[in-house]
Amino acid sequence: MAVVKRCVSCTMPLFREDDIGAEFDFGPACVHCVGPDGKIRDCGDVFLGGVDFFVNNLEGVSRELAERVTRRNMRSLPYWRGREGCGCLDGDEATEEEFDSVLSKLMNR
Ligand SMILES: [Zn+2]
Repeated sequence: MAVVKRCVSCTMPLFREDDIGAEFDFGPACVHCVGPDGKIRDCGDVFLGGVDFFVNNLEGVSRELAERVTRRNMRSLPYWRGREGCGCLDGDEATEEEFDSVLSKLMNR
């Protein structure tokens, strides 16, 4: 199986050429994470987008859990280290168990 590229900002798998919003020297970003100016959106926007995605696409995921899962996801990415800025990534993050259970729901959708 070919290795699927992932968005450097939100880890969304980039299966198709149209999933890619922009390519940077540090990697590709998805269409959702790239703003009209061609740059990766602010941390708060990417964070909210992630939270909305989990809440809208997965059953039984509360907003509170979605926030913690998104936080854990973004904090694990080199892109966001030291770039948090707006404070949305401060706070509790999902446990490994919660994170895995949400990701497995996503895979089995
Ligand atoms: Zn993305």
